[in-house]
Amino acid sequence: MNKRKDYDVVIIGSGAGGAPIAHTLVKERPNLSVLVLDKGPLFFTQYQSEDGLSDFKRDEIFSTGTEKKINVPGVSNQGVSYYSSHVEPDVNDEPHIYRHTDGRDRATIEGYTTHVVGGGTQTYGGVSLRFTPTDLKLKTFNEGRTDIKGDPNGDVQREARDWPISYQDLEPYYCKAEELIGFSGTAENQGKPFSKVSYQKPKDPNPISKYIEVGMDALKLKRYRTPLAVITEDHAPSGRKAYNPKTGYVNRYGDPLGMKSSTWVSLLWPIYKAPNFELRPNTLATHLASEGDKISKVFIRDESGREDYVTGKLVIVACSGIESVRLLMLSAEADAGFAKQLYQNDLVGKYFLTHCFGGAQVVTPDAWDKSQSVDSDWATDHCATDEFVKANGLWAGGAIYNNTSDQALPLSLARTKGSMDLDSFWKGFTDDTGMTGQRMSDYIKGNLGKRVSLAFMANQVPLKTNRIELHPTVRDKWNRKSAYIIKDWHGQDRALMDTLANQCAEILRHIDGVGNYQVSEFGSVYMGENGVSRIANHILGGARFGDDPKDSVLDKNCRAWGFDNLYVTDGAFMPTSGGANPTLTIEANSFRVADHLLTRV
Ligand SMILES: Cc1cc2nc3c(=O)[nH]c(=O)nc-3n(C[C@H](O)[C@H](O)[C@H](O)COP(=O)(O)OP(=O)(O)OC[C@H]3O[C@@H](n4cnc5c(N)ncnc54)[C@H](O)[C@@H]3O)c2cc1C
Repeated sequence: MNKRKDYDVVIIGSGAGGAPIAHTLVKERPNLSVLVLDKGPLFFTQYQSEDGLSDFKRDEIFSTGTEKKINVPGVSNQGVSYYSSHVEPDVNDEPHIYRHTDGRDRATIEGYTTHVVGGGTQTYGGVSLRFTPTDLKLKTFNEGRTDIKGDPNGDVQREARDWPISYQDLEPYYCKAEELIGFSGTAENQGKPFSKVSYQKPKDPNPISKYIEVGMDALKLKRYRTPLAVITEDHAPSGRKAYNPKTGYVNRYGDPLGMKSSTWVSLLWPIYKAPNFELRPNTLATHLASEGDKISKVFIRDESGREDYVTGKLVIVACSGIESVRLLMLSAEADAGFAKQLYQNDLVGKYFLTHCFGGAQVVTPDAWDKSQSVDSDWATDHCATDEFVKANGLWAGGAIYNNTSDQALPLSLARTKGSMDLDSFWKGFTDDTGMTGQRMSDYIKGNLGKRVSLAFMANQVPLKTNRIELHPTVRDKWNRKSAYIIKDWHGQDRALMDTLANQCAEILRHIDGVGNYQVSEFGSVYMGENGVSRIANHILGGARFGDDPKDSVLDKNCRAWGFDNLYVTDGAFMPTSGGANPTLTIEANSFRVADHLLTRV
C-alpha cells in the first residue's frame, strides 16, 4: 500500500520531547497534517485494547537471559553475557559505545530510554519535579565565586550557561504539562513558585515512608509529597479512569492499566483518531536531507524494513538526546549541504549531560508491603536552596526523594541484588550461584520490604569534553554508525555527589528521631565500577539552546541555527541538566515550543 508522503509537520519520537508538540498542533490546528514516527511498537493498555489485554505484562526485562553474549567487534566486553528486554534495543543490534576509564571501548545499553510509542515515559519511575529558578541561570549564580569545590581551573564559571528562557517563561508550561499529563503530589513546601496547582491528591504514603517523615522532621526539613506521573483520580483531559494505583513496581515496567501518565496515554491517545493525525510505530528515521536551510526529506525504514521517505514543512527531532545527535550527525555524513548547515560551530554533540545521582539506604526493623504505594512518597528541596548550595561550596543544587519501589516485590529485589547497572542486571545472581535454597529464602526474608532508600538528583557540570560522536567502526544492524559516548565526572560533580549522599545518609540516620540509626549503604554514581558510563536514563545536552549562534546549537525555540524548519526538542536542548529528574521539564519545554510553532503554521 502506498502511504501518504507529504505532511505539514513530521515529529520523530513520541516521548516527552515529541508528544506535547503533536498534541498541541493536532488540537489547535485541525487543518494541519501531523505525522509522528517512532521506531518502537505501539503497546495498548487494557482499556485501549479490543480484547481487554494489555501489551505490557510487566515482564519487560525478562525477555531473554544471560545466554546472550555481546557480539560487537572491537569492544573490550565482547563475549560478556547480558540481558535484553523487549522495550529497549538489543545491545548487539544497536550498541551504544562508551570509552571506559581504561581507555578501551565497551558496548552498552546505557543512553537509551525505551523504544515503544511513548518512549521513556512508558517505563519511567514518573518522579516529576520542576527545576528551580536558579537551575536555569547557573552562569549568573556562579559569577565571581571563588569557593567552588573541586574546580581549580574555574571550569564552572567558564562552562556554565544560563538558559535563554527564565523560570517565569517556562512556568505556564509546567502548569500546562501538569494539567494535561496528569500527576499526583503536593506543591506546598516545594522550593519553586507555582502560579497554578493541578496535582491530584497523592495516595497515602506507604507505611515504610513514616521513617522518612521522622528523619526529615528531626532535621526540620520542609518536605512535600513527591509529584509522580501517576493519576490517583479520574483524569478528564486524557479521559482516563483511576482505580487504586499500587504500582510500587512501575519503575522500569510499563503500566497495563494506563494510570502511569506516559505521553502515549495522556497526550497521543486523545488525538489518536483525529483525522489530521497519523502515528507510524516501528518506523525508524534513518537520516534527513536538506536543500539549503530546509529539511527536504526524512528518510525512513518502515515497519517491514523498506526504505522510503516522508516530507514535512516542519521537522521535529525528539529521539532522546543521544539518538537525536546521532541522527543529525548521520545526516551530515550523508549530505554535505546538511553538514554545512548543521555545523555552524563545533558544538554539535558537545556538552553532553546526565545527572549527578546517588543516595543512601537503611534496613528497617520490620518488613513492609512496599508494593502498596506508587513509588516515591516524600521529597525535599533543602539541597536546592541558594543558601545550601553556597554554604557547601557547590555550583548548583539537587532534589532528594525516597523510593519505595526498590525491593518492593521479589522481582525488583532480584534485579537490584549486587548491581543497579543497566548493563549487568542479575549480575548479583549470576556471580553468586550458591544463592539457592535456605540462603535464597534467608535473603528474601532479610531484604524484601525491609529497606528504605533516599535518592538525590542534581546538576552535572557541563564540559565540552563530555560528548557524543559517531563511532569510527561500530555500526548498528542497519549499518548506521553507532553513537560513541565520551564522558567523565568533574571534581565539582564528585564534591556535589559526596555532599548530597551525605545529606541522604543524615536524614536516614535520624529515622530514630535522634540521629543514631545505622545507615547500611550510601554513595554516588561516580564510585561504581561502571560509574563513567552510567546515565540514569537522563539523556541531556549535546545540542544546547541559547541566544548566541556561536555558542549554541539551537536557538531559544529549539530551532537548529542553520535551518529554517528543523527543531530538536528532547533533552538535548538543555545547557545544564537541572536539579531534578528531567522529563517534566522536557515536556513543559515542548509545550512552549509548540506554541512557537503555532505562530509558524
Ligand atoms: C527506567 C526508567 C526510569 C526513569 N525514571 C524517570 C523519572 O522517575 N523521572 C524522570 O523525569 N525521568 C525518568 N526517566 C527518564 C525519562 O524516560 C526520559 O527523560 C524521557 O523519556 C526523555 O524524553 P525524550 O523525548 O528525550 O525521549 P523518549 O521519551 O525516550 O522518546 C524518544 C523516542 O524516540 C524514538 N526514537 C529514537 N530514535 C528514533 C529514530 N531514529 N526514528 C524513530 N524513532 C526514534 C524512541 O523509540 C522513543 O520512543 C526514566 C527512564 C527510564 C528508562
